[in-house]
Amino acid sequence: MKNEIMIAGKSIEAWKQSHPLIGDLVALKETEWFNPAVRPAEEALPDVGLNEKNVREASARLARFAPYIARMFPQTAGAGGSIESPIRSAPRLKLALQQRYGIALPGHLWLKLDSHLPISGSIKARGGIYEVLQHAEELALKNGLLKIDDDYSKLDSETSRAFFRRYRIAVGSTGNLGLSIGIMGATLGFQVTVHMSADARQWKKDKLRAHGVTVIEHAADYSAAVVEGRKQAAQDPACHFIDDENSKHLFLGYAVAAERLKTQWTEAGIVVDAEHPLFVYLPCGVGGGPGGVAFGLKLAFGDAVHCIFAEPTHSPCMFLGVYTGLHDDVSVQDFGIDNVTAADGLAVGRASGFVGKAMQRLIDGYYTISDTELYALLALMEREEGIRLEPSACAGIPGMARVLAHAQNIYRQRFNMHPATLAKATHLAWATGGSMVPEEEMALYVSKGKMALKA
Ligand SMILES: *Cc1c(COP(=O)(O)O)cnc(C)c1O
Repeated sequence: MKNEIMIAGKSIEAWKQSHPLIGDLVALKETEWFNPAVRPAEEALPDVGLNEKNVREASARLARFAPYIARMFPQTAGAGGSIESPIRSAPRLKLALQQRYGIALPGHLWLKLDSHLPISGSIKARGGIYEVLQHAEELALKNGLLKIDDDYSKLDSETSRAFFRRYRIAVGSTGNLGLSIGIMGATLGFQVTVHMSADARQWKKDKLRAHGVTVIEHAADYSAAVVEGRKQAAQDPACHFIDDENSKHLFLGYAVAAERLKTQWTEAGIVVDAEHPLFVYLPCGVGGGPGGVAFGLKLAFGDAVHCIFAEPTHSPCMFLGVYTGLHDDVSVQDFGIDNVTAADGLAVGRASGFVGKAMQRLIDGYYTISDTELYALLALMEREEGIRLEPSACAGIPGMARVLAHAQNIYRQRFNMHPATLAKATHLAWATGGSMVPEEEMALYVSKGKMALKA
């Protein structure tokens, strides 16, 4: 008998039989799946184990820190120390997508520019910075450095930095999470260690070292970097390990985005309700960022919002985990998929089990996108909208076309959505990072993108 690889007691061939899309995923074909198990928000939100009150608390904590943030990061002072990004309508990009994919795209296309979030230039400036602040506040309140009704800008002092210097923070990252936690942690005074996966870009490591952060480079991928970070932190009682795979704090920090988006839609005169649905396309790595944002969106907009996750063809960990029901018991490598992608922020082979299980009945669907297409869209975005993104951040851009090309019938049947309603929909591609990419590196991305556009 030949020595066959078994996954949860089944051969890959048997998995392909029972789950037909696995063949396409393994062949690295762009694939989409709309989960038939999705349920109304009211029914499925309790799966998460967190609620609206938890998100409000996170939001209030960020507000308490706002005077400190405004003081330490002057680029946020205009917004009163709020770390937030703009939304932008993208009609030219929509026309270009229509042409590229050869289909009509009824409805409006918008972008959420987390690429331009202050401090660390990616979606990680939400969850990562929030968890550092949560931890700092807990320590400061417990040890009498701070009272909850103080003006937190008093943390800009030698006394305060000397206090935090006694504590350590560790994290495993593909780059952007480390950048967010490293910059915020070091600013407060913490000793921060970032365990970087092999995918992490050199400039991200350099930038962290310039902030006095200890960067440990791992030859292996993200999951291995996390394991190593967790192990080292476990031996040190003064060290807080930020667990990207399981952290509720990170998740809540991301979730705060939704109430702010609600205000932005109101200011822009955009209605979101059953007759004007909102489709949101979220690039997914381990799942915490998109999962937390989607949780907030479901709380804020209920069944009027439809969340779809986007992953590279080489790293479809959440797609595979939810589709097989194996969640974090399976990695893309188990199926022979290599987890090697230009989308460094999404280069994750094993998804968060917490997010996969908590959110599976709230996420409409998942699709994969090739690296070549990510580059092509990067160049398209720069040409049509003048916005420069990193490859990971482009994964959500074709979402509108992917849904309208392949899934119109699904929305018709499963959600009873009339074509006239679909024509009134708003589609939001979450552009998750890129404004801090160094000029030379961005020029390379754009030239690769231009080549991909011509091909
Ligand atoms: C980390 C990251 C994501 C995805 O977030 P996860 O929490 O890993 O799922 C998306 N885009 C960019 C640019 C990122 O850095």
